[in-house]
Amino acid sequence: MIYLDNAATTKPFKAAVDRAYEFINEKYYNPSAMYKEGFALQSELKKARSALLLPIADQNAFELVFTSCGTESDNQAIFSFARRGNIITTEGEHSAVLAPFAELKTRGTAQVRYAPLEKDGRVNVEKLLESVDEKTCFVSVMHVNNEMGAINDVNDIAKRVKQKNPRVIFHSDGVQAYGKILFKLGKEVDLYSISAHKIGGLKGVGALIKRKTLTLPPYIYGGGQETGKRSGTENTFGIMQFAYAAEEKFSRLAEKNEQIKGYREKLWQALNKTVYTRLSDVAGSPYILTISAVGLRGAILQQMANDQGLLVGTGSACSSNSKRRFSAVVLACGYDEKTADGMLRVSFSDDTTEEEIDRAASILNAIGEDLKRRMK
Ligand code: PLP
Repeated sequence: MIYLDNAATTKPFKAAVDRAYEFINEKYYNPSAMYKEGFALQSELKKARSALLLPIADQNAFELVFTSCGTESDNQAIFSFARRGNIITTEGEHSAVLAPFAELKTRGTAQVRYAPLEKDGRVNVEKLLESVDEKTCFVSVMHVNNEMGAINDVNDIAKRVKQKNPRVIFHSDGVQAYGKILFKLGKEVDLYSISAHKIGGLKGVGALIKRKTLTLPPYIYGGGQETGKRSGTENTFGIMQFAYAAEEKFSRLAEKNEQIKGYREKLWQALNKTVYTRLSDVAGSPYILTISAVGLRGAILQQMANDQGLLVGTGSACSSNSKRRFSAVVLACGYDEKTADGMLRVSFSDDTTEEEIDRAASILNAIGEDLKRRMK
């Protein structure tokens, strides 16, 4: 089986799982326990926080709150700070951001504004800035788009947003960026969401990185863990494994970026251009290639690929009542419904091999040509 749906989730790093195993087997104590085993765990968690923060943030300026996933981190950021006036996000966001924004609109908490996208999936920065005014309290712009791989320059966007209104709280969903592209958090970004299972960590662990000077109102109340910012007994095994996986990813990030980019381009070169059109840009994340078999159904191609042992993602899917849906992100980039319907997302991991790329290209070509013939 060839797994090229790594933007959905990645295989956990075995070495990181093995290293963290002692937190199941031996150090299974409650980190809040008031005896030395509990204190020792608190200090292990502190080390994990540093290991996760260090590669992307100045530890004097930023701290990290553990959560259960990227979705929770996004929700915590939004429900904690998007409280009045108007709040702004982009048409390209993941549902972990779009759904809380929609909920705040329904509640009448704040006026909601959406900035449009460029053809490659980046936000249209000028339009975003036009919508910022003196009543804007919160802006959320994703770092790497999960469907198009487009990279937003969130440091620059945050800076420009704050030049217009310095009171804005700026959040970025960094779930597809953390550990996958080289980046340092700028001082104008207030909040940044990350998730373990996208980088060889386990499902069920995430974090919200926050500027230290910002007071984060809790989203989950209870026993006061995470200095009261996020209650609930910490998932010590998952957190330690996340930290080890991040160490692994960041230690070879630049080298892997080059290699994976090479594979992405090799795959695109090998694809039959009479079947596939490229949607994602060369400048986007090396880990994502978004293509469309315009006029064909991506969901059918996904099933055909599955039958051949190739797993890829798709932006178009059928809802339970069989109504056709298209990738809202691809449509927001200005593509038509046929292009959105034919979309496939091929996403790589550090373990992807050249042989897998060759094999994936021949499977995608064979099924695309076959379906096209049958559609005539
Ligand atoms: N944000 C983006 C951009 C994502 O791609 C995802 C996962 O697909 C999430 C948020 C949600 O993360 P999690 O699965 O950890 O809740």
